[in-house]
Amino acid sequence: MHPFIKSSLSKLNFELGRNPKVEQTRDYRRFIPAPYKAVFTLSADFELAWAWRFSKGLADPVEGAKRKARLARWNMPDLIRLCDQYKVPVTWATVGHLFLDSCECKEGIPHPELARLKHFENGYWKFAEGDWYKDDPCSNFRDAPEWYCPDLLDMIQQAQVKHEIGCHTFSHIDCRDAVCPPEVFRQELMECRRLAEQRGVDLKTFIYPAHTVGNQEELPKLGFSNYRTNLGNILGYPVHHGNGFWEIKSSFQLEWRRDWSVDYHISRTKRIIDRAIKHKTLCHFWFHPSFKREYLEQVLPPVLEYLNERRDDMWLTTMAEYVDWLNGEIKEVKGEKVKAMVP
Ligand SMILES: [Zn+2]
Ligand SMILES: [Zn+2]
Repeated sequence: MHPFIKSSLSKLNFELGRNPKVEQTRDYRRFIPAPYKAVFTLSADFELAWAWRFSKGLADPVEGAKRKARLARWNMPDLIRLCDQYKVPVTWATVGHLFLDSCECKEGIPHPELARLKHFENGYWKFAEGDWYKDDPCSNFRDAPEWYCPDLLDMIQQAQVKHEIGCHTFSHIDCRDAVCPPEVFRQELMECRRLAEQRGVDLKTFIYPAHTVGNQEELPKLGFSNYRTNLGNILGYPVHHGNGFWEIKSSFQLEWRRDWSVDYHISRTKRIIDRAIKHKTLCHFWFHPSFKREYLEQVLPPVLEYLNERRDDMWLTTMAEYVDWLNGEIKEVKGEKVKAMVP
């Protein structure tokens, strides 16, 4: 479809209230704590070079991946500063390898103790030859900053606003059942958990790389309380999958769209926030920290400023904290007594 037609249709669907799709419930207070009218959570797929090394859309995927990583590194200090300025917490779904200061090849093989995926292809990636870890530099965060970032994790943990660190697998795998055996999934997530614990982090939120949903039944067994799905843009309610384990639906991706003006980016995003408050829903935005600099500098500040202005109507929280409230583990929000929901 011609980009102009696609962009016009998107604008029309937005004006007609079709995108995001708005769900209805009889009892929104099961999902929105009093005195709020809506809940807002924000997640980042935090991966540096790991997400893009098998990208079909890049001519030289490994070089392209490193470029993305450098852009994310450039953006991160400003992102953390803006979140502090407007007191907006983020759930950073972090690739486990980024927790490492360094790693070493053993007899020429990176991470020989971890099980690998077999070769596969999906809509985004083609892994057709060699070892899954063939681009791992077996180096350290100073010499190969695209593949490790203890320094950025320090920055997240030392920020004024209380962010959450979540999980995005150890090496950004395709998690679908047809591609990923449960043993690979378990090993990846247990390695993330081991490394996160060294930072005092208990991983609760899981975000699937490239939305490759699979192996869900393993998540609660491995200690996770929730995961995100991207089934179109939805303003609605989380789904309880039993035993305090929840699915959070995304509402909108924060990214630079070539066919939108800066003003349109800002006004559309603010109006999604308004709709969440009007319809009394959960609103979940997500982004890649490697998004374009224009977005970070021109669109994000007014959007975060607006969230800060609406914080009396909207509970701004992290995914894990929200799920703790859903599970009755948090009884008070913002100093006000709230009725806890027992699933
Ligand atoms: Zn490594
Ligand atoms: Zn990712």
